[in-house]
Amino acid sequence: MQSSRAVVFLGAPGSGKGTQSSLLASQLGVPCFSTGDLLRSEARANTPDAFRLRQLLASGALVADELVCSAVAARLRRRDSQSGVILDGFPRTVEQAQFLDAVLDDMGWARPIVMHLDVSAEGLLKRLGGRRQCAACGAVYNLHSRQSLRGSRCELDGGALVERDDDRREIILRRFEEFARSSAPLIRYYAKAEYVRVNGDRPVNLVAEELLAVAHGAVLAAA
Ligand code: AMP
Repeated sequence: MQSSRAVVFLGAPGSGKGTQSSLLASQLGVPCFSTGDLLRSEARANTPDAFRLRQLLASGALVADELVCSAVAARLRRRDSQSGVILDGFPRTVEQAQFLDAVLDDMGWARPIVMHLDVSAEGLLKRLGGRRQCAACGAVYNLHSRQSLRGSRCELDGGALVERDDDRREIILRRFEEFARSSAPLIRYYAKAEYVRVNGDRPVNLVAEELLAVAHGAVLAAA
């Protein structure tokens, strides 16, 4: 990115935020920060706090704003974020969006570019049901669209591929409800921002091309 911008992704669980945000980050040459990945890795520790976090994540509920907000602020201020950053899974509430605006403003950055991945309910359920993640490194595969070349093992480190605890059907439904409740106010909050809604039901490469074009267009428009 020529001028420093943050890109945030909105989308229901399974909408492809993780895949598309990391693709866009590598195409733009900026880091990608996933609050979900951070929380899952913190939840692996052998402490009472990590145990509580594991239970919360497995329930599909949102983690307290303070925890994610301070992690995002610290990540934004790291040296390698200076030319821009992609946020996957943050903000999820209006309070988090206001916090992000304040941090960006303090850093002298513009408001974020908001990319909303829109996927049909049918598409979301299919993707989440097929999602498998390496228990060791967290790499993501999908039984329908991105199988591991090593079967039930991770291509990168041979770790076992497992379902995420929160990808069970009843938890998925809870996470959908959570998204439905929190996304409408967030979309309203971003009404005057650079907000784009993208049809995420298409193949990964087509969605990625459109997002890249949007990111380039937004940067040029802001320059
Ligand atoms: P994700 O990997 O983005 O689907 O996030 C997995 C889980 O992490 C969510 O269901 C929440 O429990 C938690 N989480 C991730 N990002 C946030 C956030 N910005 N605010 C609160 N909880 C979050």
